[in-house]
Amino acid sequence: MDSKQGMGSILSNETSIRVSYGTAMKLGLKEGDTDEEPTTAYVMIPGKKCRGGCTFCPQARGDPKWLSRVSWPLFELEEVKDKLEVSDLSRICIQSPDIPEYESRLKSAASKLNDTEKPISLSTPPLDEKTLKELEGTVDRIGVGIDAATDSLRKKKKSNYEPIVFWNYLGKAVDIYGEDKVTAHMIVGLGESLDELAAAVKRALYAGARVSLFSYRSEEKKTDIRYYRRAQLITALLDLDKGVEEALDMTLKEPEKALDEIDVEKVFQTRGCPGCNRPYYTTSPGKEHRNFPRKPTRKEIEEIRKKLILGGGD
Ligand code: SF4
Repeated sequence: MDSKQGMGSILSNETSIRVSYGTAMKLGLKEGDTDEEPTTAYVMIPGKKCRGGCTFCPQARGDPKWLSRVSWPLFELEEVKDKLEVSDLSRICIQSPDIPEYESRLKSAASKLNDTEKPISLSTPPLDEKTLKELEGTVDRIGVGIDAATDSLRKKKKSNYEPIVFWNYLGKAVDIYGEDKVTAHMIVGLGESLDELAAAVKRALYAGARVSLFSYRSEEKKTDIRYYRRAQLITALLDLDKGVEEALDMTLKEPEKALDEIDVEKVFQTRGCPGCNRPYYTTSPGKEHRNFPRKPTRKEIEEIRKKLILGGGD
């Protein structure tokens, strides 16, 4: 066990912060090699067990060191801030589980990390209007975990919340922070149909948010890659102001034509806040990226085209 890992258990939750492993390597807080570096720093408020109860999230299982397929070691916030100040990372994304007093913990971490002069995004459980307004001068963008495409799926997968609270939160965040300052997170492959996904993406865009897609994976299952590529293509077409029916039709019946209408170098990259690339968040190293953390190569684009036009899974 290295010294930092050993320190994790004795750091106080009040003065410490979790840092995604890739971010920790980028900041020189952990050793290791990676082919794809993060361009945003991903940090997380530490807590014991998230009250959200989301079936797809390790935080709900009382596994505070894990989020998605990534581990998040603990460091002193002050040390992380110092490293960030001299790094070339373009943004900081502060995430939080649903723990007691997460609002005040967020405010304090955001205020400290604001000294780095890097734009800050939040990806947290819903915040009340007062907190959103208090954070307005410190925080640049708000991420909202819509996650599941339909209310009934959200009720099943995020059962500790009323399904509507996330849409209400998104609307409130757009009202306060403005259009294009909010990112709706959508998980692809939770059991929704492509039509349901398209309708939810359209709803978020119509409300004035950007949409960021995540490919669902668990130990037993991961989303079929062809389905995920279709979801990305539909989202890109909806972003171009196509209607839901048209985007679905083009993707399923005329994928070549649909690919001609979009910027293929851009739309298969990680979507969301400017500078957010989340390498390996839902893809294992060595596998085809679900969300490319950089421009895909010509060969990678050819693979994507084949999946969309000719079919074929992993
Ligand atoms: S898009 Fe990226 S930076 Fe923005 S809230 Fe989501 S994870 Fe954070």
